Amino acid sequence: MQTQSPTIQKLLEKYKEIALLGKMGALLGWDLEVNLPINASQSRAEQSAYITKLITEKWLDVEFRTLLEEGNKELKKLGEEEQSIVRNLNRGANFYYKVPKDLVIKLSEETSKAFMSWAKARQSDDFKAFVPNLKSLLDISKTIADKVGYKDNPYDALLDLYESDLTAKMCTEIFSNLTPKLTEILEKIKGSDVYKKQQSLSVSDKTFPQNKQEEISLFVLRKMGYDFNAGRLNVAPHPFTSELDANDVRITTRYKVNDFIESIMVAMHEGGHALYEQGVSKEYADTPLGGGVSLGIHESQSRFWENQIGRSRAFFDYLSPVLRSYYHSELGTLSDDEVFSLFNKVRPGLIRVEADEVTYNLHIALRFEIEKALINDEIKVEDLPEVWNEKMKEYLGVVPESNANGVLQDVHWSHASFGYFPTYTLGNLYGAQITRIMNQELSIKDLSEKGNLDQILSWLRDNVHKFGSLYTPGDLIEKISGEKLNPRYFVDYIKEKYGEIYEIRL
Ligand code: MG
Repeated sequence: MQTQSPTIQKLLEKYKEIALLGKMGALLGWDLEVNLPINASQSRAEQSAYITKLITEKWLDVEFRTLLEEGNKELKKLGEEEQSIVRNLNRGANFYYKVPKDLVIKLSEETSKAFMSWAKARQSDDFKAFVPNLKSLLDISKTIADKVGYKDNPYDALLDLYESDLTAKMCTEIFSNLTPKLTEILEKIKGSDVYKKQQSLSVSDKTFPQNKQEEISLFVLRKMGYDFNAGRLNVAPHPFTSELDANDVRITTRYKVNDFIESIMVAMHEGGHALYEQGVSKEYADTPLGGGVSLGIHESQSRFWENQIGRSRAFFDYLSPVLRSYYHSELGTLSDDEVFSLFNKVRPGLIRVEADEVTYNLHIALRFEIEKALINDEIKVEDLPEVWNEKMKEYLGVVPESNANGVLQDVHWSHASFGYFPTYTLGNLYGAQITRIMNQELSIKDLSEKGNLDQILSWLRDNVHKFGSLYTPGDLIEKISGEKLNPRYFVDYIKEKYGEIYEIRL
């Protein structure tokens, strides 16, 4: 991109090297989770750490630092994009200038090892095997929080890495507002006749071959407008999206032979992340304005496609004939209402990624509280399974029979991503807030019913995607909706949708 200020132009040239290295590192990470033979984990850790070392050196480069200082001095004279470039670079600089280089490299090495350790521990349901890795990552994260600095809570420093300006206090406010409302809604749903009738509704005794599931996923992704010339779909145990370049945004999914719904939802979820990245203004590529602005806004895009579209009655009515053409005999005896309720069955379950829209944020509330306590030394790593199970009982009324289905279920801690989980809830809240505005300008229902998703995508392109990281997440949501993050819209949406499905007043 071209800028007015020669200082910013030079900064962009220098920054491009950081962006390119970051993408090479992301490719190593993608390959680690999609392809890597287990014996290669040690060497992959070394390779990734080397890239991290190069990136750190680029950030610490004297000329780059001097240019950034000059950029900050010129700030008032700069245009909007240039100011955002400086602001985003300041965020990166705050991390790299304050956290010692050796610690950044160590974190990279330890996370590569921890990922493989976590995968093994989960497979063999052996939490103890993962404890040393988790302790090490937690120690590093606490040191990072201290180095980066915070006002109230060390957890704030980590939250801010994923969502700028997010604090433990804000999360506490959000969850103390949301959690009681959701548990109340859940209890009402559990008491409804429809809930009881649904008990026997299941297709898990049927087989849904992987190749058919894959064809449906590809169909839905094409409908959404995902560009397969600028991305690809692979299988990974824990699905994710990787932006390896503006023209190479890859998604991963997984298939379960007894569940035809999950792979559709995963494809739409990861597809939503990918559409965001594919839709960022191309001139921002390899600049500090490239890429989605925060994990919360990112998750609003994935959850929008997964839930507001994918689990809506309107889109289901469009998709149903397609599903029946693939699974004629498997779905044969079920009515459309019954198949639709399989997509929206509210059940307090053990697994976050399988959770319905009502219970999902309760899974996040639990993780937020545990992380906050871990970072503040209020609980010990060894006690995690016990703490986990107690909170599951409290919030969801269910207790995992194994750690694999409990405390070991998520990949995040093996990445040292403490502070990441709350952004999922932010995404749900932002998503509902954005949908409300979109609905004032076009009828999501009518378009979804006809499978005309291109207008929906263009709206998102114009109002969210194209801006990349030009605005802070807080400013972006205000720009889109005219107000700050407001959990009300999510609660209203849940009450309306699930009140209808469960035929009760919520
Ligand atoms: Mg996601």
